[in-house]
Amino acid sequence: MSVTDDQAGQQTTLGGPGLPQERRLVTSIPGPRSLELADRRKAAVASGVSSSMPVYAVAAGGGVLVDVDGNSLIDLGSGIAVTTVGNADPAVAAAVAAQAVQLTHTCFTITPYEGYVEVAERLNRLTPGDHAKRSALFSSGAEAVENAIKIARHHTGRTAVVAFDHAYHGRTNLTMALTAKSMPYKAGFGPFASEVYRAPMSYPYRDGLSGPEAAKRAITVIEKQVGAADLAAVIIEPVQGEGGFVVPAEGFLPALQAWCNANGVVFVVDEIQSGFARTGDLFASEHEGVVPDLITTAKGIAGGMPLSAVTGRAEIMDAPHAGGLGGTYAGNPVACAAALAALDHFEHDGLVERAREIGTLLVDRLHAAQAADPRIGDVRGRGAMVAIELVDPATGEPDAALTAAVARRAADEGVIVLTCGTYGNVIRLLPPLAIGDDLLSEGLDVLLGALSAS
Ligand SMILES: *Cc1c(COP(=O)(O)O)cnc(C)c1O
Repeated sequence: MSVTDDQAGQQTTLGGPGLPQERRLVTSIPGPRSLELADRRKAAVASGVSSSMPVYAVAAGGGVLVDVDGNSLIDLGSGIAVTTVGNADPAVAAAVAAQAVQLTHTCFTITPYEGYVEVAERLNRLTPGDHAKRSALFSSGAEAVENAIKIARHHTGRTAVVAFDHAYHGRTNLTMALTAKSMPYKAGFGPFASEVYRAPMSYPYRDGLSGPEAAKRAITVIEKQVGAADLAAVIIEPVQGEGGFVVPAEGFLPALQAWCNANGVVFVVDEIQSGFARTGDLFASEHEGVVPDLITTAKGIAGGMPLSAVTGRAEIMDAPHAGGLGGTYAGNPVACAAALAALDHFEHDGLVERAREIGTLLVDRLHAAQAADPRIGDVRGRGAMVAIELVDPATGEPDAALTAAVARRAADEGVIVLTCGTYGNVIRLLPPLAIGDDLLSEGLDVLLGALSAS
């Protein structure tokens, strides 16, 4: 399937095979070709793998995604914060193509190559803290989280791990245990890994606690129910992703870090969704000067190629014995080449500033909408990672049905928005940073129109 000629057009500075930057619907959503593919899929693909949008994609770039029927949709999801530098970004695509004709795989644990080493060097330099660091590369976010826990356990000789309410860390066995939400991530998939404990998150909209108060509550649970002596790691998302874009109150993360540092507990910050300029800092930890012992990254790291990493203090990272870490595809050379091109954009093309601009535009519009519609209980987030929480204005109860209806209506109108949250009542916005202001505003018009109409 290829994009037709009339779709070749204006080029954006970042991201995209020159697609016209417009919302254009030429069929109903989904169109006939997407419906055909949906039938084939039903017969071929396991039902447990679901899709939130009914359209089949053929091309994407800048702020749009084009489907098999020729509809051009505004993308406010970036494939879950992955195509931050833009989809099919020209520099990333060129790096992938150049690497793919040199070698596609050797297995770093057999015959190493420079790209892996260079990605590690760059991550060591770019992640928070100026201590000596090491990195290890993997393929998926869940794999990075699993390895961070392996490393923390090996380093400390302790076994317990604490994760938080509303946390999302993946769908493999250990990461399911760390993830909070049962449906759809855990239900029916147990038994789960042992020695995982849950602490209360700072959730200012719902708990009304200051950061230090919420940290005291969490630390009391950890000390009384787990005990520092057995605790290898505390893992936390600095802005929660799937759990509802919960931004902890100021002071919560620094207090947790201080407690971990004082108790020999490895402080693991999962920046898989919040990392790489998304929140208006290169990493969300930077907002409050938090310095993780280990940081996990993935999603935005390689412009859509599968790559993930654990980066952290040299003495912790170097604890496991040779051969204890790795994987056949871990740090694949094509994915590393893509990452180096994406990291060039992050370092040199003003993406942190762009994420802040996008954040201001989003938050201003959403606050204005909130003033007129009390069903918008909360507007929160940072940079280009912003969400609204929809509630029953009378009771404050989460309104998941309204949220699903708004997302569906926006999709019908050609705008891709994602939902999230423990209670399924959060609409999250994660636009590619390659999107233009006009398209972003139009996407918001459609979203807010869908809310008014629902
Ligand atoms: C997506 C995500 C993961 C899991 O990444 P996968 O690549 O889907 O395995 C882990 N942690 C956070 C915070 C995420 O957003």
